[in-house]
Amino acid sequence: MQEQKIPYKIYLQENEIPKQWYNMRADMKNKPAPLLNPGTLKPMTAEELAPVFCEELVAQELNNTDAYIDIPEEIQNFYKMYRPSPLIRAYFLEKALDTPAKIYYKFEGNNTSGSHKLNSAIAQAYYAKKQGLKGVTTETGAGQWGTALSMACSYFGLDCKVFMVKVSYEQKPFRREVMRTYGASVTPSPSETTQIGKKILAEHPGTTGSLGCAISEAVEVAVGSEGYRYVLGSVLNQVLLHQSVIGLETKAALDKYGIKPDMIIGCAGGGSNLGGLIAPFMGEKLRGEADYRIIAVEPASCPSFTRGKYAYDFCDTGMVCPLAKMYTLGSSFIPSANHAGGLRYHGMSSTLSQLYHDGFMEAVSVEQTSVFEAAEQFARVEGILPAPESSHAIRVAINEALKCKETGEEKTIVFGLTGTGYFDMVAYEKFHDGLMTDQIPTDEELEKSLSALPNVPEN
Ligand SMILES: *Cc1c(COP(=O)(O)O)cnc(C)c1O
Repeated sequence: MQEQKIPYKIYLQENEIPKQWYNMRADMKNKPAPLLNPGTLKPMTAEELAPVFCEELVAQELNNTDAYIDIPEEIQNFYKMYRPSPLIRAYFLEKALDTPAKIYYKFEGNNTSGSHKLNSAIAQAYYAKKQGLKGVTTETGAGQWGTALSMACSYFGLDCKVFMVKVSYEQKPFRREVMRTYGASVTPSPSETTQIGKKILAEHPGTTGSLGCAISEAVEVAVGSEGYRYVLGSVLNQVLLHQSVIGLETKAALDKYGIKPDMIIGCAGGGSNLGGLIAPFMGEKLRGEADYRIIAVEPASCPSFTRGKYAYDFCDTGMVCPLAKMYTLGSSFIPSANHAGGLRYHGMSSTLSQLYHDGFMEAVSVEQTSVFEAAEQFARVEGILPAPESSHAIRVAINEALKCKETGEEKTIVFGLTGTGYFDMVAYEKFHDGLMTDQIPTDEELEKSLSALPNVPEN
């Protein structure tokens, strides 16, 4: 057996946790399109965003010029609780696949929330506290974001109101209890507690909800409650910025051993983990210093990149949010109740959308049962029980490693393992019992929601 020069886990030292986030937008020639005011169709100003979002986060959202933004010391200290996260060489998986490829994964599931979401939750709670707010509202799909935010809010003594997509609320009661343990209140969405919730329930009785609905409810409550703002766990530029800590650590760990990846793979829901993981690599690519294949993986049941349209759309079902230009399936699209709750959003980060549109990255969609096959194969050899969302990246990493086996190429593959799947055992159960199906929207269904895109001249 060949001598192992690379350790199983590449850990950084505590003092190597990044002290600045990296903002890809600064290096993009074509900047992501601005958020538009749905009334005037003019770019949203900081003043217009201020009633909804925290001030400092608005500044970060609109900042297309500063490549590096300091991470405040309080956030750096919180990061020390669970970072740096390990970059793991998947020796066991490589052996099981009998592939010459070298596979690495960055594991973000080593904190109680079980996902990368905490990286941005702590930043957003910090800026809300600094602004003197009482609390924040948000939505959560699978529950990881709500959990992360409730942890961050309890750390800073902020109130936290979470609207949880109904299907997850029912499927994952324990997630809800974790949030309540950290002091958050959790309401299933759509609910009767908001105007928009009532409207959605009247139009779609018995709906299992969607992220788009829950966002509308959370925004309504934030705007209507003094001392509250709305926070979002994905999609927005500011979230990608905070998540760049993942990519910066990954790059630092690879650089220690002189490793240059050939491809970087991540699952894409709203794009935050992928945008964070690829950030410094994409920076090099944008500046013409290096080249990498960058692959976004999405569920075939919610295929924003691969079957969506690049157009201005509402970020929420209730159409109360600004318009964002993104790859979208239409804000009225409600995906089938698949088991990767964190990947059920109708749109995609406008930063990643622009990069994809400009050919800086690729996208593929994968079907649910093949994702769980990969998840199980991975768990059995690498030990970690992956989240269904993360397993989309595993699926494509395995596919690429198997291609290397055919061609004999020793490619280096890095993928993001965003979280653990302990709260997803209902999904694993369905898979084991052979009851899992692959739900793929028809062209007619997509045409229907895409035909309802708002009428913006650029569209
Ligand atoms: C939320 C979530 C995702 C998807 O969200 P992105 O913003 O696209 O990263 C992926 N994996 C896990 C574990 C999640 O919790």
